Amino acid sequence: NPSDSGWQFDNSYARLPHAFYVRLNPVTVRTPKLVVFNAGLAKFLGLNPDALKDDEGAALFSGNRIPEGADPIAQAYAGHQFGSFTMLGDGRAILLGEQLTPDGERFDIQFKGSGRTPFSRNGDGRAALGPMLREYIISEALFALGIPTTRSLAVVTTGEPVFRETVLQGAILTRTAASHIRVGTFEYAAARDKPDDLRALADYTIQRHFPDLTAEENPYLALLGDVMDRQASLVARWMLVGFIHGVMNTDNTTLCGETIDYGPCAFMDAYDPNTVFSSIDHNGRYAYGRQPQIVQWNLARFAEALLPLIHDDPQEAVSMAKETLSNFPDTFRDSWLSGMQSKLGLSNQEADDAVLVEDLLDCMYRHKADFTNTFRDLASGESTQTPLFRAQDFKQWFERWKARIKRQPDSWKTARRLMNTHNPAVIPRNHRVEEALAAAVQRADYTVMEKLLEVLSQPFQNLPEGADYHLPPPPSAKPYRTFCGT
Ligand code: AMP
Ligand code: MG
Ligand code: MG
Repeated sequence: NPSDSGWQFDNSYARLPHAFYVRLNPVTVRTPKLVVFNAGLAKFLGLNPDALKDDEGAALFSGNRIPEGADPIAQAYAGHQFGSFTMLGDGRAILLGEQLTPDGERFDIQFKGSGRTPFSRNGDGRAALGPMLREYIISEALFALGIPTTRSLAVVTTGEPVFRETVLQGAILTRTAASHIRVGTFEYAAARDKPDDLRALADYTIQRHFPDLTAEENPYLALLGDVMDRQASLVARWMLVGFIHGVMNTDNTTLCGETIDYGPCAFMDAYDPNTVFSSIDHNGRYAYGRQPQIVQWNLARFAEALLPLIHDDPQEAVSMAKETLSNFPDTFRDSWLSGMQSKLGLSNQEADDAVLVEDLLDCMYRHKADFTNTFRDLASGESTQTPLFRAQDFKQWFERWKARIKRQPDSWKTARRLMNTHNPAVIPRNHRVEEALAAAVQRADYTVMEKLLEVLSQPFQNLPEGADYHLPPPPSAKPYRTFCGT
């Protein structure tokens, strides 16, 4: 049936104990218009793009029409935000349900900006167009870089204003995720002190994301270990492309290991571990170089929530959790170092590789070298845009690196190939993202964004002659600032 949109819902989250959600529909909007649609993702999900266009898509992705089989809920959770514990929940999001793909995978379909819920506190439940388009661009860019992430299926404008410092256009983003279970969901269950609910959540999470763990002697301790591994690997991958999440609160740390919450995130241009873009991160808590420590801190909050499940004796539980978490630094380091070895074209291991990497980073820091372009330029052995390649200390490092490459059995050609599949030629540069957003928001011109999305969908491919998507912002550009909660 060509007019069938292909929805295949099975809403397992809504079968959890009632404490974990509130059942309610999105608040309808006045004049929805579909402005961006991800046909590739729709197909992957088993949806029929042709049946989701125009008015049909607008009605659906605004929440004005609920598809058959959906069971809309707002999820309850808590979280440590900038270190302080708060009860939260979906204040402007609605989980429509879980779509089963033709391959039998399960994905949350969630609206963001779909109106007030019992968790809205003082918020209006709405979102502005610019930030929803920004999430669309950056989440899809991470996906193309091979980094686990929620994805973006559609953006609609609502035809309603949202009131921030100025009046903005309202919009709703449809995002997909392996799930929206967060460290904060476990903190919520633990804070309510209902052991059965906590166990139900843990068992559900294991079933959904870590089914092999049911065979473990202590599945809950094993869950801590596996979530730790996924998060260590995720943050390592952010570090390897210069991504700064910007708001690594525990409610933005998923159990499935996907990147979530694209509010204040941004990519670093010049390498500096202290880089912060978020306008509210005054102390640099979530600076680029602090991300590994912060995720480790978040995992400790996860462990605390799990303690009653890990062992009946609280002290025993603490020592078991501590032992598992003590592996974090090595797990992270291994993941990061092996990624860095690939970025440098190294296909075997040498004891001094970590020093080689650190020395390059120090050198890049001294010369304010562009993170992305420096690595990409190494494979071609020359650089067009950075004075780095002319600096004496860099030339010395470069000779050491060349000698290191010569010592490995693989050819230079193989090394180059490895580098060019690990060092992106293009990332979503802040000034290019802003340019795309300005065209869309101010002139309803989506062509700039579409071109940018196309380039970002093949980040490891060399840009065509004359294209300048790889260039950092001009030195005259103002320091870039990002915002959450718009
Ligand atoms: P975030 O900083 O994006 O992780 O959001 C933290 C919390 O604030 C979540 O519970 C959101 O649902 C909620 N929130 C953010 N913006 C709004 C809004 N405009 N209206 C209601 N709740 C919001
Ligand atoms: Mg969030
Ligand atoms: Mg947010």
